[in-house]
Amino acid sequence: MCEMCGQNSHHGFAPTRRGLLLGGSATGLVWASGARAKETKAPPKPENAISSDAALKRLKDGNGRYINGVSRRHDFKHEREALAGGQNPYAAILSCADSRIAPEYAFDSGRGDLFVCRVAGNFATDETVASLEYAVAVLNVPLILVLGHDACGAIDATIKSMKDGNQLPGHLPTLVTGLTPAVKAVMDHGGSLLDNAIRQNVIDTVSKLKSATPILSAAVESNKLKVVGGIYRLKDGRVDMVG
Ligand SMILES: [Zn+2]
Repeated sequence: MCEMCGQNSHHGFAPTRRGLLLGGSATGLVWASGARAKETKAPPKPENAISSDAALKRLKDGNGRYINGVSRRHDFKHEREALAGGQNPYAAILSCADSRIAPEYAFDSGRGDLFVCRVAGNFATDETVASLEYAVAVLNVPLILVLGHDACGAIDATIKSMKDGNQLPGHLPTLVTGLTPAVKAVMDHGGSLLDNAIRQNVIDTVSKLKSATPILSAAVESNKLKVVGGIYRLKDGRVDMVG
């Protein structure tokens, strides 16, 4: 039983990559020993064992179907059985928590396809980085997409809080702290401060994930992982790539 996620077996799909990523120094990670015993187990979704570029193309193709209203019918009942013993998603997504985004819908993907982390403002906390490290090192995800969206309320609230000098109630200042650097970086740029900050936040988060040592940075350097950014357009569902 995996101590991290409670599942029985979801590891061992690409032992070469794991060995490359974790090396000898990381063998203390809780999943390492279980992974070796399962090396020969076939992944539950063989079609998801693809390259970074193929994963990005699959996301774009799925978004195209979503935009055009021709999303596939997903066999959730059958997939449920196939995925009971493990998972091998083809991409990880760090998305805003905004209820209008819904990455599985936006990319017309089924269960077990996307490893999704969501937080208002789609910035990378330590917990999010750790979750994505798990996706890459254990589940062998070849692609991370940071997904912002236009009219983001978290970034708009950050801008207002900075301008007014008012501290938001409760735990909301945590979001402001996380999003302030992106707003400050574009404060003097022309055009819409909100639009510019949304874009900058995606760029900054992509950069942070790419350079997150030791797991994500090593995966990027060895060409096992790509980290890309996109912005979801609320009106038509289109995801524009950033950077
Ligand atoms: Zn948002």
